[in-house]
Amino acid sequence: MSSPSHPTPALDCVQFRRLIPLHVGGDLSDAGQHPFDHHASGCGDCTEHLAGYRAQCGLLSTYGRDLESGRRTPDLWSSIERKLDHRWRP
Ligand SMILES: [Zn+2]
Repeated sequence: MSSPSHPTPALDCVQFRRLIPLHVGGDLSDAGQHPFDHHASGCGDCTEHLAGYRAQCGLLSTYGRDLESGRRTPDLWSSIERKLDHRWRP
């Protein structure tokens, strides 16, 4: 798969789910956030998936505060990276 230089206008479910960790970690760019929100508003399955991921992250309440304020905890981030599809490169 090639990477286009322009943002993809629409996400499919696989792409959306790959972006969830970035979205939750606050690493999604504005250009990525728009199609992300658009897909979430139209896809119940992915909305549920996102809610589940957020709930999972909510368990890490101490680190969650760091994520929300935009500071990443290196240990947590490396654990998130391990969960990411290895084919995904931000
Ligand atoms: Zn979807």
